[in-house]
Amino acid sequence: GDEVRAEMIDDMAKKHFPLCMRNLHECLTRDRHLKHFGRLQYGLFLKVLGLSIDEAIHFWRKSFSNLTDDKFNKEYKYNIRHSYGLEGKRANYPAKSCQQILTTDKPSVGDCHGCPYRHFSPENLQSSLLTHYSSQGLDTTDLHEIMRTVKDGHYHVACTRVFEITHGRKGVKKGDGIGGGESVTHPNQYAARSIEIEK
Ligand code: SF4
Repeated sequence: GDEVRAEMIDDMAKKHFPLCMRNLHECLTRDRHLKHFGRLQYGLFLKVLGLSIDEAIHFWRKSFSNLTDDKFNKEYKYNIRHSYGLEGKRANYPAKSCQQILTTDKPSVGDCHGCPYRHFSPENLQSSLLTHYSSQGLDTTDLHEIMRTVKDGHYHVACTRVFEITHGRKGVKKGDGIGGGESVTHPNQYAARSIEIEK
C-alpha cells in the first residue's frame, strides 16, 4: 500500500523531496523544532504524502525530542490533529502549492519555510543544492544554469531542472520535467513523481 510511516520520512526526504521540504526536514532534525509556518508547510506536505494522523503525531513527537510529553500534548498535538481536519471546523486542508509557498508568508531570518530557490541567498542556495543533491548526480557544473534561471525569477523552472538532473540515472532527460515536459507546480507532485519513477 501507499502508507507512509514516521520511520520512513528521513530516507524518503533524501531520495524524493524537493529542496523546500529537504530544508524543512534538515532544520527540524538540527533544531528539534520548527516554527509555525514551517510546521504548517511541512506538516501538510507529509499529510498529502500519505502520513496518517497516528504516524504524524509519532513523527512530530519524536522530532521535537527536547519537549516533555506534557508540553507536546498541550501545545502541538491539537494543531496536528487540526491540520488533519479532526479538530475545530474539521476542514480538509490541502498542502501548499509552489505558488502559495513562493508568494505568501515570506520567511524572515531564522525561518525554514518558503522556497529556497526564491528565499535563499545565491551562496546558500548553491551550497544547499550541493549538500542535498550531490549524491543524486548534481554537481558544480550544473549550478551555473540553475543559478541563471533563479536570477531570472523562474524558481519553479530551476526546481524542475534539479528534478531532471537528479533523476537522470532513471532515464529522465532535459525537457522531460516531472513527466511529459511538465514543470513543478506543487511539492507533493514532485515527491509523488520521484517515488513513481523509482518503482
Ligand atoms: Fe518547493 Fe516548489 Fe520551490 Fe520546488 S519550486 S522548492 S517544490 S516551493
